[in-house]
Amino acid sequence: MQPETIPCDVLVAGAGVSGLAAAIAASERGAKTLLIEKNDYIGGTVIAGMHRYLCGLYGTAPSKTLNAGLSRALVSVLTKRNAVNGPVRLGKVYGFRFRPKDLLCEFNARIQMNKKNLKVLLETQLYAITKEKERILALYATVNNTPVCIEPKVVIDASGDGAIIMLSGAKYQVRPPSGRQLAGFSFRVAGIKGGREMLAIKVPYHVRFATCMPLEKKNECIIRMNVPSGADTGEIQNEAKRQMHRLCRVLPEFNHAYIAEFSPSVTEREGLRLQGEYTLTAKDVLSARHFEDGVVKSAWPIELWTAERGPQYRYLEPGAHYEIPLRCLKSKQINNLLACGRCISATHEALGSVRVAGTCISLGEQAGITAVKLCESY
Ligand SMILES: Cc1cc2nc3c(=O)[nH]c(=O)nc-3n(C[C@H](O)[C@H](O)[C@H](O)COP(=O)(O)OP(=O)(O)OC[C@H]3O[C@@H](n4cnc5c(N)ncnc54)[C@H](O)[C@@H]3O)c2cc1C
Repeated sequence: MQPETIPCDVLVAGAGVSGLAAAIAASERGAKTLLIEKNDYIGGTVIAGMHRYLCGLYGTAPSKTLNAGLSRALVSVLTKRNAVNGPVRLGKVYGFRFRPKDLLCEFNARIQMNKKNLKVLLETQLYAITKEKERILALYATVNNTPVCIEPKVVIDASGDGAIIMLSGAKYQVRPPSGRQLAGFSFRVAGIKGGREMLAIKVPYHVRFATCMPLEKKNECIIRMNVPSGADTGEIQNEAKRQMHRLCRVLPEFNHAYIAEFSPSVTEREGLRLQGEYTLTAKDVLSARHFEDGVVKSAWPIELWTAERGPQYRYLEPGAHYEIPLRCLKSKQINNLLACGRCISATHEALGSVRVAGTCISLGEQAGITAVKLCESY
């Protein structure tokens, strides 16, 4: 069957928070934009991982977001929407507590506002890319099993795991699964008593560093297990059930508790990343380095999760922030390929800071803005 051809200015692959931000930024600026997502829902790790905190938005004070643009606008709208949404202190820095449904509602509203220029295709599986010299020409995919050929001027990889970077043959950096940060698996538990504080539950093996986040409903919490990168979702789900039985026996607060909802999948903290024109390093982050082409600011610490030590944090000096240069979003070899979110060009350690959702939103926005400028040269 001959695939239907879909021409567009900007193709964004991946509808996590960075891809959503990229697609909104590009379409708002008049570019015909296509956003494709392999799953049947938007929001990526933030939704699959049942997040309640957007990190990386603030420095050491929660007064104003470090970056203007979409992240500041989202904070403003969400704060007005519900009293639950707002800044909270997390260690030495601030995060933004939010209800996922409010964030999704706001992203959906912006997709609707830009629907003249923005099309979203869910359940889209990419399988091939054609190139001419240093340029991506076309991407082949199936949408609900129907083949399509997408012909974009500029491509943004917002897939988290560098799906386009890999398929296009662009240079990349990646660690073997055993050397990557731990992944996560979350489940919502109902029927608990007490536990209003963030509670570290001491249980064996990879559930050792699990956290329990109380929800708005008094008798509910989210438990996040930290699991090996690449772990099988089915096996981890069974492990979660076993751990839950154990918690019900050993913790009085959990005697009548039950699992109300599972994450749809294990969520990865680290995957394949672009080898960009510049690679951000731990030294850049911790020395609060600024760049001439700095486009996104962050003050989030380097947060590394390992099986041996759990979470380890290395903070910037109070009040300091570092910048992420635009070169980290640009492929070294492929002229019309950009990356955003957690697959930008950063070392394993620097990614420990860059990858948080608030920073990914701003990275996505900058990728969208840059893509529109690049379109002018094609
Ligand atoms: C366990 C865990 C806990 C975390 N806790 C927090 C927290 O509390 N606060 C915080 O701010 N951050 C947290 N993070 C980090 C943060 O959630 C993510 O790093 C961030 O959301 C990444 O956003 P992204 O858009 O770059 O990628 P993702 O959210 O990973 O989105 C990528 C999207 O691309 C899609 N995709 C992949 N391949 C393809 C393809 N071939 N074609 C089409 N679509 C594709 C995926 O389905 C997904 O929807 C956590 C991460 C983990 C793993």
